[in-house]
Amino acid sequence: MKFTISVLPGDGIGPEVIEQGIKVMEAIGKRFGHTFDYRYGDVGGIAIDRTGSPLPQETIDICINSDALLFGAIGDPKYDNDPTAKVRPEQGLLGLRKALDLYCNIRPLTIFQNLKHLSPIRPENLDGVDFVVYRELIGGIYFGAKGRKEDGNYAFDTCEYRVEEIDRIAKLAFAAARLRGKKLMLVDKANVLETSRLWRERIQQLAKENSDIEVSYMFVDNAAMQMIVNPAQFDVILTTNMFGDILSDESSVLAGSLGLIPSASIGSKTSMFEPIHGSAPDIAGQDLANPIATVASVAMLLDHLKLEKEAETVRAAISELLERGIGTADLKGLEARSCSQVGDELAKIAAG
Ligand code: NAD
Repeated sequence: MKFTISVLPGDGIGPEVIEQGIKVMEAIGKRFGHTFDYRYGDVGGIAIDRTGSPLPQETIDICINSDALLFGAIGDPKYDNDPTAKVRPEQGLLGLRKALDLYCNIRPLTIFQNLKHLSPIRPENLDGVDFVVYRELIGGIYFGAKGRKEDGNYAFDTCEYRVEEIDRIAKLAFAAARLRGKKLMLVDKANVLETSRLWRERIQQLAKENSDIEVSYMFVDNAAMQMIVNPAQFDVILTTNMFGDILSDESSVLAGSLGLIPSASIGSKTSMFEPIHGSAPDIAGQDLANPIATVASVAMLLDHLKLEKEAETVRAAISELLERGIGTADLKGLEARSCSQVGDELAKIAAG
């Protein structure tokens, strides 16, 4: 089959890890008889340097007309160190989410047996940990009315949700639970927030229509604690934009390195796949970055294209490499290889 993939490498280590992701996609394409037609675009700091905008219209056009989008990372210290800068790389990512209507962010957490020592959690508490966070991405308090009043000493942010926004992500979360452990937990603050009460009402209703799924509810403060003391209890976590932002970052720590965790952002027009880490300026340009998060994002992209066997092949390649005790320098205790060497190895294993 033939697919059009837009590729936005971005800044810092973005282009380095994306190169490895493409190597693996190419190996999969050859092995399973698919053609991936890549369309490259600029986003973030590099786009500002080249065009003055962190998200040029040309990039949006490339993305809208593709089957899926592979994204590296954005961010540059020259903007991080200048809080007054009006045009910023992060606007590229937020703009993409809005422009492509990327409403559902998915972050799976896998614990690799021989990397348990890297986690801040006791190894015995990591047994059986395998969950995924479904975070609503373009609504809630991050996008509601906000502002300052009077003398500037009063500020407000508004949290708003509509039933349609809840239903469309809930549908994806129920479908995911059906393919996993058949458990879905809504994380909210329904004892305090009206929007959370609307989420609960809707999920209670949808639970009746999805009676094969065990549905439960947890307040976000408790969930933040449970993720540390008993993370194995979770299967699919469904939550709002801000709670998901915080919980998914907390969950990522369990795995032991930022360089391991992929993500997907599902949209109504197209969908985007990206490692969760940033542009890591401290190691950029040194061939040190861990490309596994990006390669695992490629696996999620392949799943999204309904190439499940191909996606499984990529995940198996990652597991095999780590089981052999090979990884990048952030995976302390493994035999250290460069970013490009890990990419070569993964592509070789994926090629069969
Ligand atoms: P970061 O994720 O870039 O780096 C945090 C730490 O983790 C650094 O020490 C880095 O070297 C390490 N790290 C990250 N990815 C790694 C990898 N693949 N392999 C090995 N080590 C890795 O976060 P930060 O330092 O807070 O931010 C740097 C820049 O990235 C900022 O400009 C920030 O705004 C941006 N950022 C972008 C995204 C994104 O593009 N989605 C996400 C977070 C941060």
